This record gives sequence, structure tokens and C-alpha cells, in this order.
Amino acid sequence: MSSTGEFDLIRRYFQRPQLQTAVPMVIGPGDDGAILEVPAGQQLVVSADTLVADVHFLAAMPPQHIAQRCLAANLSDLAAMGAKPAWFTLCLTLPTPDSAFLQGFSDGLVQMAEAYQISLAGGDTTRGPLAISIQIMGLVPTNTALVRSGAQQGDDIYVSGYLGDAAAGLECLRKNINDTGYLAQRFFNPTPRLLLGEWLRGKATAALDISDGLLQDLGHILTQSKVGARVNLETLPLSPELCAKLPKDKCEELALAVGEDFELCFTLPRLWRQDLQDFSRQHNLPITRIGSVEASPGLNLLRAGQKVTLPTKLGWQHF
Ligand code: ADP
Ligand code: MG
Repeated sequence: MSSTGEFDLIRRYFQRPQLQTAVPMVIGPGDDGAILEVPAGQQLVVSADTLVADVHFLAAMPPQHIAQRCLAANLSDLAAMGAKPAWFTLCLTLPTPDSAFLQGFSDGLVQMAEAYQISLAGGDTTRGPLAISIQIMGLVPTNTALVRSGAQQGDDIYVSGYLGDAAAGLECLRKNINDTGYLAQRFFNPTPRLLLGEWLRGKATAALDISDGLLQDLGHILTQSKVGARVNLETLPLSPELCAKLPKDKCEELALAVGEDFELCFTLPRLWRQDLQDFSRQHNLPITRIGSVEASPGLNLLRAGQKVTLPTKLGWQHF
């Protein structure tokens, strides 16, 4: 990109005051680097995700929706760590400096920045095939972040929200790129479960967000915690909208092996059962107990108490 065009573009679309005011910065975008102050008694949680056009989102989607999806996917990682959002950087690769795209994308960023109280600290803008790389930064009180490695025999296993919606939503968008129905929204604007993540700090023994399918992602908790699990298939939370659209076995397959719902999966000692139910009711967020942690490694799927075999394709893998 020509340099005047590039600097003007950055100023116009990525240095808007609404993107910079949520959480203070010593120095925000405009210098060679941002300067960020981590408050005393807090730790910085950092996570990055690259979203490539037509791999992670549809390039033809409205640009606001692309921005929403990119930030939501990153915010979900903070939720899974129990962190509060603070700042993000944005590395944007664009085929052309298309002003309609940039305005819509920037508006989507503003909406998310205001909704989730996060400031854009800086980034990079280059020409090439459309790809968006975000690094997100959040804060947790020292040594309270949720990790994947602490699940204990006897813990309950839960998932938030409904599973399988985003996969069905992507199919809806392939048919109508401007679809804004429930399932499509679950794809382009999944809700990062930040309040739940914060609530789980000091309670959950392990947590992650489901980005590659429940079976694969739960597998990460089991491996890193050196435990096994049983999961009861009839308890899988499926939304009424998903069930109305697809036969039951297909819904189950999407819920188990296709990710992208950005719901939290976590293990919780039984003593928290009642408090979790109260949280779920207060926040009007379904949270479902799907199984329990067992001492011997491996994942056992049960239907009506009988063991069933695992699907061969456990979840999404890029390679
Ligand atoms: P440099 O040449 O020093 O790497 P750049 O010219 O790439 O700096 O960027 C100038 C300033 O604009 C930097 O502060 C950078 O963080 C910011 N910036 C560039 N692209 C973006 C973007 N997409 N979003 C937010 N800030 C950006
Ligand atoms: Mg520089």
C-alpha cells in the first residue's frame, strides 16, 4: 500500500477514539509500540488467533460480522482463562484498501470494543489475501487463571450454552450470506462467556473454550490433567433451533465433532453444583452437566448407560 494511503487508512479506521478509550493505555497506536501498564496484583493473559478468509469465516460476509467473529473468537480464549478483557492488537492483511469493507470492519470493531470494554493498542496493515490476526490481552488476579491441567477424579464436567449451532449457522450463511437468524448469529457473533469464566476462577479445576469440537477439546483437558472421563450423550445441550433444522443424529455429530461454538467446557468439584445452578439461573445461561472425570485415562461415551464407540473424526484439524 502507498504510505500516505496506509497511514490515512490506519488513522481513519483503526485510531478511532471509540477503539481506544475502554481500558487506558500509557501509549496506544501511533508510536512504534504500545505501552501498557499491568496493575499491581494482576497477571497478563495473552492469546492470539489468526482468521483466514474462507477457512475461519466467509470472505463475502458483511465486514461488521467478520470483525465480530474475529474478536469473539479471541475474547472466548480470555473467558476460558477466567481473564477480564483489556487490550488487543490487530494485524490486518487486505487484498485492496476497500473503504466500504474497512468502514464496516471498523464499525464492527467499535461495537465489540464498547460491548466488551477492550482497547485497540496497535497493529499492522499489509496487502495480501484477506486474513486477520488478533492478539488479545486480559487481566487476572495473580495466580487465579483457569488452566487445562487440574481436572480431578469425581469432578463434574459441564458445557455452557448449546453445541452445534455455529456449524449449522455456517451452512445457513453459505446459502444466504446476509442471514442474521439465530443459527447464523451463533456463527458470526458467538457470545464469549466472560462472566462465567470469571465466576469459575478459584472453583473450576480445568477449563477451555470449545473451538475444535467437544470431543477433541475435552480430550485436551483429559490429557493435560492425566485423567479420563465419561460423557452421557443424551445430556448434550442442543438448541431448539438446531433440533428444528436437522435430524437428531446430525445435531449430535455437529455438537461432538465440529467446533466453533466458543462455549466453555470445564470440570468442577461437586460441592459447587448448587452455586453453579444459581449462576446459570441468574444469568439466564444454560449450563449442562454432561459427565464426570474418572481416574483411568480415556474418554467413554455412553448412551442410556451403554458404552458407544467414538466417532472416527473427533474434531477440526488444520493439518
Ligand atoms: P511501523 O512501521 O513502526 O511498524 P506502522 O506504520 O506499521 O508502524 O504503524 C503505525 C502505527 O499504526 C503503529 O502504532 C501501529 O500499531 C498502528 N497500526 C497499524 N496498523 C494497525 C491496525 N490494523 N490496527 C491498529 N493499529 C494499527
Ligand atoms: Mg516502527
